[in-house]
Amino acid sequence: MRVGVVGAGIVGLAIARRLGERVGGVELTVLEKELQVGAHQTGHSSGVVHAGVYYVPGSLKATLCRRGAELLAAYCDQRGITYSECGKLVVARAPGELAGLDEVERRARANGVPGLRRLGPLEIGAIEPYVRGVSALHSPRTAIVDFQAVARAYADDVRAAGGSVRLGFKVSAVRRSASELLVQGACGEQLAFDRLIICAGLQADRLASLAGCDPEPRVVPFRGEYHRLVAERAHLVRGLIYPVPNPAYPFLGVHFTRRVDGAVDIGPNAVLALSREGYSRAAFDARDVLDTLRSPGFRRMIRRHWRMAAAQVHSSLSTREFIARARQLIPELAIGDVVPGPVGVRAQAIDPDGSLVEDFRITSSRGLVLIRNAPSPAATSSLAIAEHVSGQLDL
Ligand SMILES: Cc1cc2nc3c(=O)[nH]c(=O)nc-3n(C[C@H](O)[C@H](O)[C@H](O)COP(=O)(O)OP(=O)(O)OC[C@H]3O[C@@H](n4cnc5c(N)ncnc54)[C@H](O)[C@@H]3O)c2cc1C
Repeated sequence: MRVGVVGAGIVGLAIARRLGERVGGVELTVLEKELQVGAHQTGHSSGVVHAGVYYVPGSLKATLCRRGAELLAAYCDQRGITYSECGKLVVARAPGELAGLDEVERRARANGVPGLRRLGPLEIGAIEPYVRGVSALHSPRTAIVDFQAVARAYADDVRAAGGSVRLGFKVSAVRRSASELLVQGACGEQLAFDRLIICAGLQADRLASLAGCDPEPRVVPFRGEYHRLVAERAHLVRGLIYPVPNPAYPFLGVHFTRRVDGAVDIGPNAVLALSREGYSRAAFDARDVLDTLRSPGFRRMIRRHWRMAAAQVHSSLSTREFIARARQLIPELAIGDVVPGPVGVRAQAIDPDGSLVEDFRITSSRGLVLIRNAPSPAATSSLAIAEHVSGQLDL
């Protein structure tokens, strides 16, 4: 049985690794257009191993995040990858946010998040001395990791199981013959598979279209910009500090994230991106912009949410505005405490009716599996997504 996986991000590699483990006699090939694994979302994330706090109980995000976090902790332990349970606070900054925090707590308890505690102002100070809030939810098992290092370890597992990870192989066409899925590379080479799994992240809709499937939902790219605390002020943050999220959006709001190397980042915001895979401030890709503007779902979405979109652009253009939001959690923070930090671009699928696809979306038909929406917490969930997908494949 020949199995192909398109995309060597953390999701594609986790699936390939699982298939290499599960099936005897499988010939496994991962195809990746970049020259390294985890080059896009996987290598530009916040590095948080979510514990399952926010997600609608019963959703794929809720179940696969809980299972994925457990599997990932054990995997990192086994592979010697740094995995630090620094814990997380979700903080209500004013009484008006308490109802939102109650809902976050209800979901977290329904999802079985371990060790949860509701804290008052004094207890908040004992965990994060510089944070001000009226109440908070503490998830002590939320952790941090370097997801690109995890992706590299998955790729090593694939190779150790006899599979190949072909870097610099850009898939430019996918056709179905009577019995095979034929994948054409931009280099002209053609490969034949019995099963194909497409995990193309920011290119998911384009690859679906290439494979003759519905291009909806479209991917709309959202740029996430961080600021980094200067080293002398890194003591302001011990672990992970989040505001109560706005339930209308799948993004978590500007938060403080400690990285495994000790750096502390503030962000990310969520600004419409002018390039799916460009990270500099000037990044612009005409095809990406046109595809976004032409998407009916995007046009409906922007009519509904233009105020939020404008506020995000403001936070991108003005460091003062960005820091003003962060100061609602840590009033001591000053504009001179930060320097520009990393940038990531999230793939967010949007349905034609303009709704942001909330849950993971995975479709499967006649030997072809498409990962159509795998935003956060998909890195956390990668090993559980792999179990889920391998269970769907008839091998
Ligand atoms: C700013 C930001 C913060 C985040 N924070 C977190 C977090 O703290 N915790 C968490 O769990 N998740 C987080 N996420 C989400 C997480 O990073 C993603 O859910 C996860 O990385 C998705 O993995 P993937 O493999 O689907 O996509 P990707 O990592 O984007 O990989 C897709 C791969 O497909 C390849 N590809 C595309 N087209 C082709 C083609 N034609 N031929 C060959 N290869 C192709 C791409 O080059 C890419 O390498 C964050 C994401 C961002 C952007």
